[in-house]
Amino acid sequence: MSGTCYNVMFVLGGPGAGKGTQCQKIEQEFGYVHLSAGDLLRAERKRDESEYKDEIEEHIRKGSIVPVEITCALLQKAMKESGKKHFLIDGFPRNKDNLDGWNNTMQGIAEVERVIFFDCHVDTCVERCLRRGKTSGRADDNKESLEKRIHTYKESTMPIIEHYRSLDLVADVSADKNEDEVFNDVKKIFSR
Ligand code: UDP
Ligand code: MG
Repeated sequence: MSGTCYNVMFVLGGPGAGKGTQCQKIEQEFGYVHLSAGDLLRAERKRDESEYKDEIEEHIRKGSIVPVEITCALLQKAMKESGKKHFLIDGFPRNKDNLDGWNNTMQGIAEVERVIFFDCHVDTCVERCLRRGKTSGRADDNKESLEKRIHTYKESTMPIIEHYRSLDLVADVSADKNEDEVFNDVKKIFSR
């Protein structure tokens, strides 16, 4: 393949920081295609024929991270099938394995134009996820999984954000406010 064919914005932040909510708004207003790595994994887990379903299930429950070969393949497939070029990739890359795997397969194919970081206090994250857990049916919106997710976020995902910060790609958004207030700040990133 010659030339970069995709433009990507990564969207990162703790569990419950509002990545999915804000991505939907960005998709509506700015026409990016929103791909949630977590949603793609949950869909794959539900497919009876999937050879990865048990592995995915276990990682989600434990708040650990699925091997990049699986996640990156799902992302690539969704990108290709969309027929579009501009993507918001939500909840990925979450650790060094994710980052390396992405770079190895997507270098020259996709350009990371920016990383939006939703910066949210842990207490707010926990409160939002527990509230969401009452109706989300998600296997990991409970106290036990959440502690592990937050641990993984601090240990493994924060260094990825710092890596992109060193490349001057990070746009910080303070995410403790309500969704409209946060989106007002998000819009400023797109008008820069
Ligand atoms: N996950 C993963 N790799 C990814 C994205 C998600 O392994 O690239 C798994 C991981 O176990 C994570 C869970 O899926 O804890 C839920 O991720 P999601 O992004 O849906 O959660 P959020 O951060 O939005 O609350
Ligand atoms: Mg999400």
